[in-house]
Amino acid sequence: MMSSIARSVRLLASQQQQPRFLPTSNLQQQQVLKKTIGRYFSTDTVFLNGEYMPKEEAKISPQDRGFLFGDGIYEAMPFYHGRPFALEQHLKRLENGLSFLRIPYDVKSNHLLEMFQNLISKNELDTSKRCMTYIQITRGAPMIRNHAFSTPGGEQPTPTIYAFCQEIQYPSVERWNQGFTCALVPDRRWGRVDMKTVNLLANVLGYQDAKDQGCDEAILHKDGMALEGAHGNFWAILDDDKNTIVTHPTTHDILPGITRAVLLEEARRDGRFVVEERPLTLEELRDNVKEAFFTSTTVELKPAVSVDGKPIGDGRAGNVTRELWTLFQKRIERDTGVKMLYS
Ligand code: PMP
Repeated sequence: MMSSIARSVRLLASQQQQPRFLPTSNLQQQQVLKKTIGRYFSTDTVFLNGEYMPKEEAKISPQDRGFLFGDGIYEAMPFYHGRPFALEQHLKRLENGLSFLRIPYDVKSNHLLEMFQNLISKNELDTSKRCMTYIQITRGAPMIRNHAFSTPGGEQPTPTIYAFCQEIQYPSVERWNQGFTCALVPDRRWGRVDMKTVNLLANVLGYQDAKDQGCDEAILHKDGMALEGAHGNFWAILDDDKNTIVTHPTTHDILPGITRAVLLEEARRDGRFVVEERPLTLEELRDNVKEAFFTSTTVELKPAVSVDGKPIGDGRAGNVTRELWTLFQKRIERDTGVKMLYS
């Protein structure tokens, strides 16, 4: 069967008369696509278990517990022009997750910043405004499949370490102002979603439910509360005259987003907002919210403008959201030295 890459190359060849030849290997095909449509869709060089290699050559065992059980942790970190932002917080969350899963991997002694920067430069993303590095650490590949990972006298497998980087495609200012539509979706995740494990099935299905309803994003809800998005934290600005900002507290029911933590710091420091870390009821969301947005590493702030077809406020990105995004961008500028505002 023809791969999706091969199909894209053929399509490009037929539409643009370019490239003139059809490369045979996947690697060649990727290189042609990269030249033709830019590098957003993929990067070539990845890191696997201590080595850099073309993605096509990165192979892991089918016995890997990440594959068999979803037994692993991941982390995604932003870089602006190749400079890390909030890296310490991301690495701390990675460390917490590994310790919760009892995967023996020492984050501190593994020079991850150096590895991420090598990946970024090998993939020529140093000049990209925004890119992210992704690292996934699984419990490795034991000889036999067994739910238990530690048996008396048994050997623990060596963890598998996989990392890559990719450019972040940020929406245009016009698209951002237009905002993003949302569907409420029941939260079907397990009880420790504060751990960034690779078990994202309920997030994936929830997001797909929202897409199937023609929406851009999902808001996951449980016990009458709006918790967070399928891949970002959720925030609401109440329809009062105090600019009250509500976001869920960092319980076991949400992922403690790093973007969320940084934005909370900035909003509190700024002083123009009343900040409440508490659950938001679905009634409040329906009747008493004038603006809402998501936060995450890849979207920074992403305005939410309707829920199940009902507009939030005037149905466009709101001014408080814009001010918070400005505060966040100023923080990126301060921490990385990269000029950010309004782009
Ligand atoms: N919640 C969920 C479920 C997520 O997947 C993410 C992004 N990984 C976030 C929140 C935001 O986290 P961060 O700001 O650290 O990217």
